[in-house]
Amino acid sequence: MAFVGIDLGGTQLRVAVADDRGRLRTVVRHPTEAARGSQHVISRIVAAVAEALEEDGTAARRVRALGIGLPGPVDPVAGLVISPANLPGFRNVPLNRILTRATGIPSYLYHDAHLAALGEHRRGVARGASEMIYVTVSTGIGAGLLLHGELYAGAHGIAGEVGHIVVQRDGPLCTCGNRGCLEAIASGTGIARAACESAPGTPGSALHGLEHPHAEDVARAARAGDELANAILENAGTYLGLAMGNLVNLFNPQLIVLGGSVLKAGTPLLGPMRRSMNAASWKASRRGLRIVRPVLGDDVGLIGAVEFARLRARHARQA
Ligand SMILES: [Zn+2]
Repeated sequence: MAFVGIDLGGTQLRVAVADDRGRLRTVVRHPTEAARGSQHVISRIVAAVAEALEEDGTAARRVRALGIGLPGPVDPVAGLVISPANLPGFRNVPLNRILTRATGIPSYLYHDAHLAALGEHRRGVARGASEMIYVTVSTGIGAGLLLHGELYAGAHGIAGEVGHIVVQRDGPLCTCGNRGCLEAIASGTGIARAACESAPGTPGSALHGLEHPHAEDVARAARAGDELANAILENAGTYLGLAMGNLVNLFNPQLIVLGGSVLKAGTPLLGPMRRSMNAASWKASRRGLRIVRPVLGDDVGLIGAVEFARLRARHARQA
């Protein structure tokens, strides 16, 4: 028997066929073409599943379950895609029902960041951890929680929105409409925005004169000793640490898996993060806590989607 895992992002659609132990056998990747709307994207998903199965030499009836991760908010219980910002046209789309009907495979959706957490927990660096928090800081901030070794998604699948913890009252505007969310400050987008705002008034900085400084420009300038760049990363790191300290107090995790492209900034970000996390959390809550890097790389979402399909197939059998 086989499983299908799908990682549906705003730019890329990946589909994997995995064996009954969850090992990826065949992977196909295509552009999502999200701008063309939900009907178009759904037909691309169905076609990519057919292509992956054909390439793998597996008939759809040999597939036990299909797991699909996509950006939140989603309602996994109702099988609904609610309204992901980077998938225009998806509004309360009953994707479980649509994919089950179109592929003939029982299909289950979930929030992609939660599935990445599940992937690291089942097959990556977090194997065996009981209480674990997964946070990835790149363009946005994604996160997932595993409590007692199980995914924790809240009443409607929306839990774990670490990026939207408000850390600064009246702070910068976030994509969610609130102000002062962690994502608006410490994500790649937040760091780039801070650089855009402060570079024009800082003629001595390497960032001065760059038309659209990116988070990578800030990291590079900081490494070269640029004061403004270091201040921006210190600010981002401090707020990231504040949020993490609060998570530590709330969940007393044994493991935090912390990844994403923004962390490549290194010490100018991570030093302030550590200090701020320690200041914001109880020593007793941090006892034995390990902070580690993820190990699964780009396919983490696919691996998580396959693991979710295996999980759901097991539940379906028990039910
Ligand atoms: Zn927000």
